[in-house]
Amino acid sequence: MPNVDFVVAGAGHNSLITACYLVKAGFSCCVIDARSIPGGGCATEEILGPGYGIDTCSTGHTLMLQNPIIRADELGLVEKYGLSYLHPDPVAHVALPDGEQITMSLDCEATMAELARYSEKDAQSYGRLIAEFDELRPLLGKARSGPIGMAPSMKSLLAEHPRGGIWARRMAMSARDIILREFESPHVRAFMGWLSFQTAVPIDQAGTGILPYQIAAPRQASSWSIPKGGSGRLTDALVGFLGDHGVTFYCNATVARLILDDGRCVGVETNDGRAFRAKQGVVSTIHVKHLADMAPHEAWGEDFIFGTDTYNVGVPFFASYLATSAPPVFETPRGPRTAVSAGYAGWLENLVQSGRDIYDKRLSEEVAWLLVATPTLVDPSRAPEGHHTVKFLTHTIYDLPGVGPAGWADRKEAFADKLIETIRRFCPDFTDDVILQRMTKSPVDIEALNPHMIHGAPHGGDRSATFAGDQRPVPGWASHRMPIPGLYQTGGTTHPGGSITGFPGRNAAMVVLRDLGLDISNIMAV
Ligand SMILES: Cc1cc2nc3c(=O)[nH]c(=O)nc-3n(C[C@H](O)[C@H](O)[C@H](O)COP(=O)(O)OP(=O)(O)OC[C@H]3O[C@@H](n4cnc5c(N)ncnc54)[C@H](O)[C@@H]3O)c2cc1C
Repeated sequence: MPNVDFVVAGAGHNSLITACYLVKAGFSCCVIDARSIPGGGCATEEILGPGYGIDTCSTGHTLMLQNPIIRADELGLVEKYGLSYLHPDPVAHVALPDGEQITMSLDCEATMAELARYSEKDAQSYGRLIAEFDELRPLLGKARSGPIGMAPSMKSLLAEHPRGGIWARRMAMSARDIILREFESPHVRAFMGWLSFQTAVPIDQAGTGILPYQIAAPRQASSWSIPKGGSGRLTDALVGFLGDHGVTFYCNATVARLILDDGRCVGVETNDGRAFRAKQGVVSTIHVKHLADMAPHEAWGEDFIFGTDTYNVGVPFFASYLATSAPPVFETPRGPRTAVSAGYAGWLENLVQSGRDIYDKRLSEEVAWLLVATPTLVDPSRAPEGHHTVKFLTHTIYDLPGVGPAGWADRKEAFADKLIETIRRFCPDFTDDVILQRMTKSPVDIEALNPHMIHGAPHGGDRSATFAGDQRPVPGWASHRMPIPGLYQTGGTTHPGGSITGFPGRNAAMVVLRDLGLDISNIMAV
């Protein structure tokens, strides 16, 4: 089997990004993944038949646009490998329990006018919130676009900022408390709650106070940006880059064990007994809870094992994918509305309760948060002419009371029906007649497809204060170096967490290259 400089265990977009920088620096790599294709949650697959490019996990890449990989096109993914982004307008359209509906437009004044229908004060608060985020944006950029220990900490950056105390408190608060403080109308509160719950962290958790700013402002600036052709086009570009640098991919290969030599990680073994040896090190995007079982516990140390034991995997996702002959069109008194990113939000208290229910392992009968993604509204290349791909996404629990996770097999289609019914209240023409194909994935199915998404939770773990920054994944081990020498961790379980941002991948590369004594400014625009 190959004997390369680095074995990359898991082929999510983050570890592919780490591999890109390593090969750019002249090291050889091979990439191993349990799935039949690379990309993890950054994939577009024809699961509903030829011509329908379905984003099986991620669709929106807004935060990725802030990464120098895209912003500065550091790897040539845009110029040489055909990656491009679309910025849909409207940014979002959200229906509310009493039938009211709110459209977020790329024009901030238009969004404010929409919110002013409910409260002039809230419209002004929204405008202020978007403007204020500009003062935090550069600080967040510095703290998140560099690894823990190498980049300045958010705490130190805030200490030097004239309004750092205000932001420190906001960031420690919950999204719920920020929304209640800043907005008075139940409609605007529900809309802001819907936005804030996008990262699947319950919005009453300490440390989510940044979300109303951090989700709304980048979308207000550049929309819920999506790659032209599908989420998987980012993976295609990364794989193209790696292929041109001689990287071999081993798919359908699940890593079962780390190979240790004199206490150092020198490779991995797959469940079919193949050994992949590395001369310099192993880069993993295996979930840290699984990783901990891939070497004797003594090799990790008590603190790491305690940290992974107590690590919260986060809120599970439930998804239903449709191929349709028409998009969901929302009827409003102001005329029909469509949006790539549409959905439904319960009142703020329903949204908060749904997060609490999930962490208390209670199955909510009511749908409180629903995302309905229809990328074909702006990207017809993803479906046969005139047709659409629609993805319904919500949060739920993994372990069904009384029947356990296995119970999802019998319940998931009825659950998906409920999601569709929720939207039909507002989109009366989105009938069964327009639905040509459908496939539903419960949290159990999502986990089965990607072992990094334990319990179907998509973002590598809860991102509230307990599991953020220098606590992620484990206090003392947040800088991508794992307790076993030669082993580096990237992906959603590392700072700054899941979603398609590329930051964990690029940050891990910075650490590995630094450990090799390389001047990383020669390799990336640090
Ligand atoms: C339905 C759904 C919708 C989503 N929508 C969005 C969205 O719109 N925007 C957004 O930003 N995010 C979204 N996400 C979340 C996003 O997909 C993840 O946060 C992101 O993919 C994490 O990237 P990653 O590189 O950290 O790892 P992953 O994409 O999870 O990749 C990890 C890879 O490691 C492999 N792996 C794990 N263990 C092993 C092992 N033992 N052996 C071999 N290989 C292994 C897996 O097979 C996988 O390919 C969504 C997720 C889901 C499920």
